[in-house]
Amino acid sequence: MLTERIAASRLRALALSGSHERRALPLAAMPRLAELLAGEQQSNVTLDGRFVVDAADRLCLEAELSGELWLACQRCLGAVRWPVQLAVRLVVVEDEAAAQALDDPFDSLLLEAGELPLFRAMEDELLAAAPLVPRHAKGAACRASAAGDGEPDGAAADTHRPFAGLQELLARGR
Ligand SMILES: [Zn+2]
Repeated sequence: MLTERIAASRLRALALSGSHERRALPLAAMPRLAELLAGEQQSNVTLDGRFVVDAADRLCLEAELSGELWLACQRCLGAVRWPVQLAVRLVVVEDEAAAQALDDPFDSLLLEAGELPLFRAMEDELLAAAPLVPRHAKGAACRASAAGDGEPDGAAADTHRPFAGLQELLARGR
């Protein structure tokens, strides 16, 4: 039931069946999200979703996304864990005009050529909720502040670190 693209003609029947489905999201097939990841192996998000018809006779997707994504720390590019726990409710709409007619157009899921792009919609939700600047917490294992930095011989000296100054400048700019 919860596949990458679901024919719009099936949605109402799915809603009437009332069935839930859980499945792992194919993160590797989500290119925009993949760009943010640093720990692809450990990252996993489970989708628990179902279709419902609301009181206004609109088709909606109710979904819970849970798991963890490992994002690239913007200080050291190491992996930072982002625990994912999102509940979304999206109204399925046929076109932009119908989306704009909603109280909140962002709560819409736009059909494409008669199909519902489920995984891309879930990718949108994850991107919207992800921290803008993922970083290790102060005092955590941020390699940018630790000695060594993975350089040859664990060189933590001030020499041969052409970007050290740049990093300070960037930090000051924040
Ligand atoms: Zn870091």
